[in-house]
Amino acid sequence: MMKVEVVSPERVLFSGSATQVITRTESGGEIAFLPGHTSFLGVLTENHTRIFLEDGKVQDVAVHGGFVEAAGDHVTILSSNAELAGDIDVARARAAKERAETAMRGEHDAVVEADLRRAQARLSATGALGND
Ligand code: ATP
Repeated sequence: MMKVEVVSPERVLFSGSATQVITRTESGGEIAFLPGHTSFLGVLTENHTRIFLEDGKVQDVAVHGGFVEAAGDHVTILSSNAELAGDIDVARARAAKERAETAMRGEHDAVVEADLRRAQARLSATGALGND
């Protein structure tokens, strides 16, 4: 079991025990933390993070960058922009995805690409990706 926290400078978004955490780093792609994991510090990309709870349920979180710090008995995600799946407005994320996709038909730029990745992370976390 690991103590897992998802925190922003303003608040604790999630705090609880988990058996596994899957998130995504800039350099290493998707990464899974299990109890006993070696110490790790990484920069996160926009992603759908999955926290596997003790009771078998999964807490889905959209995490839009930040850092992950992990060692054997804990995983801490620090992000100034993250939402629990239950707090995500699916219609808003769909609209943001469409706006970004429309903009990308013109000139590609890093800002629009990040907009799209945030919308995709939100839709993935709510299970809505691909249903639009
Ligand atoms: P939009 O274009 O819809 O505003 P965005 O990706 O530009 O989306 P952000 O700048 O990432 O939005 O976030 C601004 C604030 O709005 C943050 O507090 C974020 O948590 C919240 N937010 C953004 N999109 C959603 C959503 N679909 N559901 C719930 N909260 C959201």
